[in-house]
Order: sequence, then C-alpha cells, then structure tokens
Amino acid sequence: MSSSYITTIGLEVHAELHTNSKMWCGCKNEPLAAKPNSNICEVCMAHPGTLPVPNKDAIKKVIQVGLAINGKIADFTEFDRKNYFYPDIPKGYQLSQYKFPIVSGGVVNGVAITRVHLEEDTAKSSHLPAGQAGDKGGVTLIDYNRAGVPLMELVTEPVIHTKKDAVNFARELQRILRYVGASEANMEMGQMRIEVNISVSKDDGSFGLNQFGELVDRTGSGRKPVLGTKVEVKNINSFAAVEGAIDFEIARHIEVYENGGTIIQETRGWDENKLETVSQRKKENAHDYRYFPDPDLPKLYLKEVFDLDEMKKEISGRLPSDYRTLYKSLSLKEDVAEALLNEVELSYFFASVCKNKNAEFAALASNYLVSDVLGLLKKEGLRVSTETLPSVEAFTMLIEMIQAGELSSRGAKDILPILLSDKAISPKEYATSKGLIQKNDPELLKTIVKEVLAESPAQIADYKAGKESMFMYFVGQCMKKSKGAGNPSLFQELLKEALA
Ligand code: ADP
Ligand code: MG
Ligand code: ZN
Repeated sequence: MSSSYITTIGLEVHAELHTNSKMWCGCKNEPLAAKPNSNICEVCMAHPGTLPVPNKDAIKKVIQVGLAINGKIADFTEFDRKNYFYPDIPKGYQLSQYKFPIVSGGVVNGVAITRVHLEEDTAKSSHLPAGQAGDKGGVTLIDYNRAGVPLMELVTEPVIHTKKDAVNFARELQRILRYVGASEANMEMGQMRIEVNISVSKDDGSFGLNQFGELVDRTGSGRKPVLGTKVEVKNINSFAAVEGAIDFEIARHIEVYENGGTIIQETRGWDENKLETVSQRKKENAHDYRYFPDPDLPKLYLKEVFDLDEMKKEISGRLPSDYRTLYKSLSLKEDVAEALLNEVELSYFFASVCKNKNAEFAALASNYLVSDVLGLLKKEGLRVSTETLPSVEAFTMLIEMIQAGELSSRGAKDILPILLSDKAISPKEYATSKGLIQKNDPELLKTIVKEVLAESPAQIADYKAGKESMFMYFVGQCMKKSKGAGNPSLFQELLKEALA
C-alpha cells in the first residue's frame, strides 16, 4: 500500500549562463553554434601553457541568482579541480566549486536550497551508431563549442515530497533565472537540466504531509523520518520527464521493498522513448574526483569586487514574485497571470502598458497579449522579445480605444498584426483611415435602431411572442446598417429600450 511509504526528493539543477563569452577565455558563448568546433581556442582546448581567466559576468549572474533566492553570498570563494578523464573534458578535470560555493542557503517556492555554485560545461558528445557518418563501426563525434561555457549548479535539500512540488519548484527556478537574466533556461535546448534524487521510506503511519507539502510528525514529537536509499536520475530534459521519472522510481522502489528487496544507491538515466529509468552507474563505481583548489585561478573575495547592495537594487521589483503580486493586485485571471509570468519580456511589457491603469484596462490588455499577441508570434514562429512585441505606446493606445468603445474587438484584431509588423503606426490614425472607428454617437445609433425596427414588424411580433433569439437579429441588422461601425453593446442597450 503506497500510503505507508514516504517519498523524498532533492533536485540538482544545471543552467548555462547567458554571458557573451565562455568561462575562462574570450570564445563566444554559443554552445549550439551551427558549425561544430567553431568557438574554441587554446584555453578552452587546454593547450599546455595556457591560463584561464575567470568571467566576471558569470560570477555576477550566480550572485544575482543567490540574491534573488535570499541565499548567503560567500565572502570568500575559489574554484576546484574535479578530476576525471573523459574526452568531453579537454583538461582532464572540470573546474567547479567544492568547499566554497558562491551561494549557500536560500529558498525557492518553499524549497530550501543547499548551495549554488559555478562550474564549466563539458563538450557535447554524439554517439553515432554503426553505419552512420560513413564509418563501419560506431563513432563518437565531439563538439567543443560547449566546453568551458559557464554553468551554474543549484542543489536543493531533500525536502520535496511530491512530483507536483518538484515541478512547481523547477518552474519557479526557471522563471527566476530568466527574470534576473542569468540564463534563458530552455530545457529542450539543454540550457537547463535537472537531476532528480529520490528515495522512498516505509512509514509507520506517524508521518504525513501538511497543506504546504511539508513532512510532519503527526505524533507531535518533531522527529525526522529515516530516509530511504536514494537514486539519482539524470538525462531529464523536460518537466514531463521530471514527473515521469519520479512516478517510475516511486513505483519501482515500493515494488522492491514490498518484495523484501533493497534499493542500491546508483545513477539512472531517463529513457524518453520507453518512459522508464535505466541503471547507468552503481555507487561502488563512483568516481573519486580528488578535488583540490585550482592553482592557476585567483582566490576571490567577492565583496571586494561586487557591490551587493547595488546588485540587490538591480533586481528589486523585477522578480517573478513581484510580478505575481502585481497581477494579483490587478485581479488578473489565474491562467492569464500564469501565461504572462512564463514570458519574462511579456511581463515587463505588460507592466509598462498597465502603469497607472485600472483593473478593467489590465484585463483587456492581458487578454489581448496572451491570446492574440502570443498567438500571432507563435504563428510566425517568433519568440517574445522587445523586437517582436509592438511598441508600448501603440499597444496602450489600442487598448484605450477598445476600453473607450472606439474600436470593436473585430477592429482590434485587424489592427494588432499591423502593430506587430510596423512599430511606427498609430492605431488611432490607422483605424480612422480604414474606417474602423466605432460609432458611439447615441443620436445616430438611435436613428438606425428606429429604421431597423420600422422595417421589421413581423420579427417584432415574433420577439414579443417570446422568440428571444430575434433580439440578436435586430442587433445584426443595426450593425449591417451602420456598415459594421456601430458599437454593438450600445445598439443592444438602445434596442432593449426601444423594444420594452
Ligand atoms: P551526493 O554526494 O551523492 O551527490 P548529496 O548529499 O550531495 O549526495 O545530495 C545530492 C542531492 O540528493 C541533493 O539534492 C539532496 O537533497 C538529495 N538527497 C540526499 N539524500 C537524499 C535522500 N535520502 N532522498 C532523496 N534525495 C536525497
Ligand atoms: Mg549528485
Ligand atoms: Zn576558448
């Protein structure tokens, strides 16, 4: 019975930092460059006699993440050599951080963070099966464009207990990375990668989860459960895979335990096709990395180089939680707020558009952004950015016109694509020149209503006899007579009055 088991999860998240150059050299930080091995030099290829120089911007981005999650920024930090031999690591060691990470502690979505440190990414190996690449045997191709790209690693405490909390945490972390500009964090592009550590332990019934998903001792003793043996699952490149791996491992652990077996500590990989995890490496074969401080790199006293108060100011008011608060204060619908939150540039854009505006305006603006603008960009295969979005002024004017009843939703939908392709266009001028301005003059609309009703005695009789659907017929006739320019809600009001 699964309810007598407790699942515990800790995550390790890697993110490629969004910097101009690599971590130790001037090579372009472009791991997915079309031409393999085009962004390499003597330093990132570890030629003898070369020396690494740390990338200050990469360190700054890790500090910024640390500040965003309320972690403690180290006074002192250094880089260590993590020794292992593999073709994807030209030096024979990976530069990473061991004893002195840049960030310790912090919280994301209620999940306690152990540390955040900085290391370098490895080259990308492609294992081609026999017959490909014109070779008789299988070959491995290596692209060093990714070698030496700054990579942040964040480790959580083992305090997550459901797949839902694991994914919510990872999604919020992804947003934070994007909002502070640390990483684009696209999982499908390998810019954010998740390793799931998971264990299952038998429960005597005294432990349970509270409404925050935290483990509590129901007997009130405050003791902690003894965690089960953990397994680490690598090679996860989507949120769905996080959930799949957790489900699969919970079921596997419970089955082993129910049959009196034991779980061995190991690294497993997620098989995206079979939707299951497969054993990769047992604990007994774990590497001894023999970490030691790199003698070629300077020791860093971060507070001598970075003004943390200034950096706090830079991100203050610009974090996902700030925007969540803003959306709540504007009473946005939850799904609309979520859609905005997930696109950092859209959040920034929306906030500029809605400055000093009321909830009615915000509801209109957010709906047009989320359903229409996002839809148009998607259709064109474009990403949301300041380049692809309309100008703040033009979009604000458009929404103001809709709010004032000067523009029908039909008219707005006609104008939007134009605003996306030409930022200099004024929606007011455009709508005027195309005759899209809605007529709100009550006297004019009244005349039209009178004419329509005078022409429809049979329909009025039907309506009065209880055929309520005739009402929309009258609205339609009024719209037709006004050549689509009349304000339909005004017509409805006037018709109701006239028919009463
Ligand atoms: P390792 O030395 O094997 O990498 P760590 O103690 O550094 O292990 O933890 C690595 C990750 O595993 C962390 O995210 C941590 O929260 C998680 N973890 C540790 N123990 C457990 C456990 N028993 N169950 C689930 N996750 C765990
Ligand atoms: Mg690990
Ligand atoms: Zn280089």
